[in-house]
Amino acid sequence: MMRGVITVFVLCAGFTIALMADPAYPWQNVLYVLRPLSLAQSQRIELDIKSVLLSKGISDVVFIMDKDGTLSKPNEHVSDSMINLIRKIFDTYDCSHIVICTGGILEDSEDNLINPLEKMVKLNSHSWFKRLTYFFMAGLGKISWDEQGRRTIEYFGEPFSKDDQMFIVRNLAKALMQNIEGIRLPEGTDEAKNMKNLSKIFDEFIAKNRKLIGHIEISNGKGRQFTIELKKSSEKQALPGLQNSDFTRKVSETFKGLLAERANLKNLHIKYGDTYVDCSPVDKKDAVECFLGERNFKNPLIIAIGDGSNDYGFLSKTTNDKTKLSFFVGKDCEGMPDGVTLWQTPGPAGTEEILVSIVKSVETVFEMENNIRTCA
Ligand SMILES: [Mg+2]
Repeated sequence: MMRGVITVFVLCAGFTIALMADPAYPWQNVLYVLRPLSLAQSQRIELDIKSVLLSKGISDVVFIMDKDGTLSKPNEHVSDSMINLIRKIFDTYDCSHIVICTGGILEDSEDNLINPLEKMVKLNSHSWFKRLTYFFMAGLGKISWDEQGRRTIEYFGEPFSKDDQMFIVRNLAKALMQNIEGIRLPEGTDEAKNMKNLSKIFDEFIAKNRKLIGHIEISNGKGRQFTIELKKSSEKQALPGLQNSDFTRKVSETFKGLLAERANLKNLHIKYGDTYVDCSPVDKKDAVECFLGERNFKNPLIIAIGDGSNDYGFLSKTTNDKTKLSFFVGKDCEGMPDGVTLWQTPGPAGTEEILVSIVKSVETVFEMENNIRTCA
């Protein structure tokens, strides 16, 4: 009996030490011991990517990634390890491009992700700026950079009419209230004459009911996109019981019903995740397709990673995508399109595992190609 226990212990310890022997990825290897399915998936990606890079004459590798729940926890600061992985991608492959596409507003991205990204690029190589593109508000806004690292911020499309904006925000508030037990629509919501008045009523109502619901905001993104935000930051968030896709799904369904009253608004895209309900005239995939069309890459490998239903559009394969690998790191995968790999580890930790595997495969292929050149 004792001998058996010692044998198991020695085997486990040996296995762990062997996995930790790769100094570049010690922590990820420890995670793989705890998550054997993720290890199997990582090995599978490495094989897929190596075979794609070696056989298909790939011209560029284009990463298309969501922010909240994919690159960072919703509206939290991105981790140093994630920024370091993006650095490695730029550094390892000259023809790599990073496209980040968030549904959130610009203000929620600046400190959490854009500033750390800019800092990292400035410390390494200003030439990387032209390989970085940042879409916010599902592509209604875009940041690009020149080689000095100066930002250009663009907005697309026209804002909704003042009346439609009021109608949308009022009904987002109604849909939210109707799905929280013990809550009633605050007085004056239907009578509010302008957005300032409506926002004041809503904010005062949230402040008064903080103990019951926590902090919730409705954002009006430049009159173009509207969001119920259940997690504005680590400090400002709804109670944990409200931060789940069962709740936000119900809110979005109620909202869809209310929106149907206006024919000109019934085709809006309404998406939800654990911490938000979004209402937008565009889908993230529109911005991604526009970006790919403008760049006109010769034969790109596209790697897409997202965690919510608002990412399904750009995760899906279209006939134009010759070579695409899509990964889903969310928990609720209802309606996930075919051909997307459901990753075992959710959230930014899962994204890091995927990126580590990709960097490893690209590095190995480069070593192989360099050896071939040397031999010739
Ligand atoms: Mg997300």
